[in-house]
Amino acid sequence: MMSTSLIRSRAMVTKVLDRERWEEIADGAVLQEDGAIAEVGTFDDLQRRFPTVPVVGGGQEIILPGMVNGHHHVGLTPVQLGSPDMPLELWFVTRMVMRRVNLYLDTLYSAFEMIASGVTTVQHIHGWAPGNQQQVEAQCDEVLRAYDDIGMRVSYCFAVRDQNRLVYQDDAEFVASLPPELRGPTQRWYDRLQLKLPDYMALFESLFARHNAKRRTRIQLAPANLHWCSDAALQKLAETSQALNVPMHMHLVETAYQKSYAYRRGGVSALEYIDRFGMLGPRMTLGHGVWLSESDIDRVAATGTCICHNCSSNFRLRSGIAPLNCFTAKGVEVALGIDEAGINDDRDMLQEMRMALRAHRVPGMDDNVPTVAQVFNMATRGGARTTPFGDTLGAIEPGAAADLVLLDWKQISFPYLDPETKLLDAVVQRGKAQGVRTVVCDGEVIYHQARFTRVDRDAALIELHNELQNALADDEVERRKLAHALLPHVKAFYRDYIDPARHEPFYRQSSRV
Ligand SMILES: [Zn+2]
Repeated sequence: MMSTSLIRSRAMVTKVLDRERWEEIADGAVLQEDGAIAEVGTFDDLQRRFPTVPVVGGGQEIILPGMVNGHHHVGLTPVQLGSPDMPLELWFVTRMVMRRVNLYLDTLYSAFEMIASGVTTVQHIHGWAPGNQQQVEAQCDEVLRAYDDIGMRVSYCFAVRDQNRLVYQDDAEFVASLPPELRGPTQRWYDRLQLKLPDYMALFESLFARHNAKRRTRIQLAPANLHWCSDAALQKLAETSQALNVPMHMHLVETAYQKSYAYRRGGVSALEYIDRFGMLGPRMTLGHGVWLSESDIDRVAATGTCICHNCSSNFRLRSGIAPLNCFTAKGVEVALGIDEAGINDDRDMLQEMRMALRAHRVPGMDDNVPTVAQVFNMATRGGARTTPFGDTLGAIEPGAAADLVLLDWKQISFPYLDPETKLLDAVVQRGKAQGVRTVVCDGEVIYHQARFTRVDRDAALIELHNELQNALADDEVERRKLAHALLPHVKAFYRDYIDPARHEPFYRQSSRV
């Protein structure tokens, strides 16, 4: 049966044109048919022509294209699971304390937060699942089932890590470097993660075959990071991406330690290294990219490679400040990712836009700092281009997917807002999750008046809470102890890891944001 509705606004922001300009329609409305936008115009005109079509929205909301969280991993945050914020390389170790969680409920948990802040599509980068291929695949399916049930659009990938899983060193060498009493528990931690490169590729093929044709689901590839991928893995992932025209999302130079790692491995920058495998281009998105050099960024721009900026995460894990203004000046396509959890330890895309908007306001009067339109574009079209959905998302135009967010204008404008304030300025700077009235994905209302239409949020969160009341299992206790015991050894591994001759000092890096 054909599902049609007319979604009505006080005003719509349909698409970003450039750094300063966007298109908007006062009293605008969208006619959607079976999840696709059929017509865009004013409500009066569309209602006159389609008088029997049911109307969504009361005319007091601002409609925006649904936002894309360009980089996401987990539901319960690391802090919730007992891992405090630390420099990334130490934080990997503290993440060992994470306990087994119900991945279906865990995925719903962050989906609740994302949708409630206006996100309709997420780039979910899954990883670290224990077990063999069959066991890992069952966990992937639970994540995908959660998005399917709640009605959210997902671009999903399972991150490939076939080496150097704990520090930037071979697993066996690291175990051998440890005091004898830590070798057994560390080896057992490695042994839980059983996937080898052929298993990862078989996993991708199976997920792709079973899920990629679904309307709201796409399966793509994820080389987890340079240090985590062997040359064989890079080669295989590059070939598969090209053969199937499937995008990749790869963490790259998130920290200065990773920049050093690349020079130690290949005598070139991380970007130059993956360039050897033909991995650059519009199918590749680099997660973070904090420590890309100026010439790296030139190459990113020239090849049409995308970057996903994870602003809050970079602050929290002391990764540094990504040179966003340089990315922009060189014309790089940039997405915005909340990553593990934003600055408020939740998944609030409206907050993350403001984070990116404010973090790069360097002194001076030149037009080189983020604009409202630019940041909004990162959260919509920029993010969409890092997923297989591409330009079907991120703008309100005929033929595009009917993924829409309705924000209460009163929440933004009450008790007063100067009438000359530009619409998108007001929305981006003042829009809050509590003002998100309705969220439409694929033409379907999935969230309205603080309620999810398909899933009972309260029941799911109570179930998640109850499932975590049991005592830790023996292996969970062992990993918890191990995480504490390993920290000094990992810290020692990275002492003097950074070659000062090749790197500007940390304090100078902040001058080129
Ligand atoms: Zn990440």
